[in-house]
Parts: sequence; structure tokens; C-alpha cells
Amino acid sequence: MTAIMNTYGRLPVTFSHGQGVFLYDADNKAYLDAISGIGVNALGHCHPAVSEAIKQQADTLMHTSNLYGIEKQQALAELLCQISGMDNVFFANSGAEANEAAIKIARLHGHQQGIESPQIIVMDNAFHGRTMATLTATGNPKVQEGFGPLLEGFIRVTYGDLAAIQAHASNHSVVAVLMEPIQGEGGLHVLADGYLAELRQLCDSNNWLMMLDEVQTGNGRTGRYFAYQHDAILPDVVTTAKGLGNGAPIGACLAQGKAAQVFGPGNHGSTYGGNPLCCAAALAVVNTIQSQQLCDNATAMGHYIRQGISQRLADSPLLKEVRGKGLMIGIELTSPCAELVHTARERGVLINVTAGSVLRLLPPLIISQAEADTIIDTVVACVNDFQPQNT
Ligand SMILES: *Cc1c(COP(=O)(O)O)cnc(C)c1O
Repeated sequence: MTAIMNTYGRLPVTFSHGQGVFLYDADNKAYLDAISGIGVNALGHCHPAVSEAIKQQADTLMHTSNLYGIEKQQALAELLCQISGMDNVFFANSGAEANEAAIKIARLHGHQQGIESPQIIVMDNAFHGRTMATLTATGNPKVQEGFGPLLEGFIRVTYGDLAAIQAHASNHSVVAVLMEPIQGEGGLHVLADGYLAELRQLCDSNNWLMMLDEVQTGNGRTGRYFAYQHDAILPDVVTTAKGLGNGAPIGACLAQGKAAQVFGPGNHGSTYGGNPLCCAAALAVVNTIQSQQLCDNATAMGHYIRQGISQRLADSPLLKEVRGKGLMIGIELTSPCAELVHTARERGVLINVTAGSVLRLLPPLIISQAEADTIIDTVVACVNDFQPQNT
């Protein structure tokens, strides 16, 4: 491991192959993957439709560059626009890059209106990525520490507090609001029902772009294709990545209305972005999510897991709250619980802990009820056996 830069504290396990919701180590021990490669393997591991699409595309055409038309990119853009109600798409290779595109749209939109120093309102506890612009937009000091000078042009407010955004209505340099519909890395924080509809109105009355980071919440994760579709509104810009490629690296920045008209040739680009290989994979992913009604499965299984864990831990003094939407689930405990990642893994289930005391589950959207029961049983057993250290 020493030939790899020291950017991750890795768990002492290496997987050799995967199938469905399971990963296997070299001894063929099976692990139920309840974190899906951080929300990426929405269709589980090695889904046949995706593997087949990649194999076929690899034998046909992998890359040509955006100097030319790309048939699969066009088809994927049309499919995503049809599902989302957006007008057009810029393809990138990651979530951070999709957000870079959104930030550049907001700034250019501002400059096109004569605003010299455009400002974007961002949230406490936000996570938008690790590039310089996206780590500046991120609301976690640990992500930013040591990387100054950060970018100008971001105003930070409390997540979920509409009045805190409204307080900037008199600031004519504000051009956009950027937020996650549910904060993932920041601790699985869910907005109040109706919040996004109110934010839509607020953005309309101030001529601000409403920009949603759906890198994690998109692609069926919360029970709708995009999380904003629970609220029957359209943002101006929405970004996604993670589940879009099921492991093929692809990100997308979708825009509609005036935001869709901001970029012109030369304003933005990416050598790989939207290449035939990744677009073929993503087309298979999106078509499978739709044809297998995996959004509905996410709703049903998410409800089942949250309810199962809530009921069975109802008497536990360690349980603070179970929250989330669809298969984006947070279980907040009353004390820091990072070691539960290890105890769950020893019991054959892969989970994650974020914000110190929140167990995070992002199971594949294809999960069955029996597999959901395994997750519930394991999480409940881990919490019941957990003895927090009073340090
Ligand atoms: C993971 C994540 C990102 C960053 O995506 P990368 O592909 O790692 O660059 C951005 N925003 C949100 C909400 C995320 O969950």
C-alpha cells in the first residue's frame, strides 16, 4: 500500500469479486454491501445489463473526444432530460466535476448580467467534492484545512433554514443557491417537507439559480429518480454522478431554462466527459432503474429498513434517531460509533459511519426483503452489543 498516496484510512480487507449485493474477499467470505461503494453500485456488483453494455462498447468504440458527435452521449442526455424535465446536460467524470460545471454556470450567468463578483449561497455541513471550488463550497473545515487560499464567492448559511437564505435577498451579487436535497457526508440531514418548493419560490423572486447537488441523492436513491421530484418542482441546475455509472466514472450537470443557455462553445469542457464507454454503461444503468421500477423498490425497502431498525432499537438508550428517504438511511446514535464499521464488517455487512455518530446505509437499489432483513439484524445486533467509551 505504500506506493499509494496516503489519502484514505483503509479498512483491512480487499475484495476480489462481487455479485448482486455481495462482495467477496480472497477467502471467498461474503459481505453484504450496504454502502454500495459510497452510493455508486445502485444496481449491485457486476449487474449483467451494465457489464454487457460495457463489453459491447469496449469492442465497438471507447473514446473519440468531444470534438465529434457521440451517439451514446446524445441518447443518455435525451433520456436524462426526459426523466428529469431538464433541458440539456454537460457530462463530466465525477461528482466534483459536475459541481464545478454548476458553479461555473452560476458565475458566468452572473457575469452575463453585469455582476462583477457573483456569490453562491452554500450550506453548513455541505459536501460538494475535493476540487478547489467544490472543497470551498463544502461546509466541513476538515476538508478545507491546509488548502487555503480558498476561492471567493461563497456565502454560507445553516442547512434547512430558509430565512437564513432570505436574509441575503438584498445582496445583489448573489446569483445562486447550491445545496444537497439530503446531506449525505454531512450526517444524513433531511430537509422538511415542502422546503424545496419554498426555496424554488425564493430563488424565483430573487432571480437566483436554484442548484441542487444530487450526486448522492440522484439515480433512484431516495425513491424518485431525483430527490427534487418528491416536491414537484424543477431546479435550474442539478448535478449527479455516483449511481449514474454503477462504477463507470461519469458525472452530469443538467440545466433548464435560462441556466441551460449560459455556456457557449469554449466555456467549458472535458476530454473524457461523456465518452462512449461511460455513456453506454450509464444508459444501461438508467434504463435498468426505470424498467425494473427500482425507485419503487428503494421506497419500499427504505421504509422497511428504517421501520425495522426503529422498532427493534426503540428501547435502546443509544438510539437518537433513524432518518432518511428511500435507501439513503442514517441512524444517529447518542455517542460516537466509528468502530461499528468494524463490528458490522466482522458480521459480514459493510456500512459506514459519518459525522462521528451516524451509521449510514446506502444499500443497492436491487436489494431484496431477505437481504434487507440481514442489514436490520446486523445493525440491531451491533448497536445492542456496542459499549461506548466515555472519553
Ligand atoms: C460524493 C459526493 C460528491 C463528490 O463526488 P466525487 O465523484 O467524489 O467527486 C459531491 N457531492 C455530493 C453530495 C456527494 O455525495
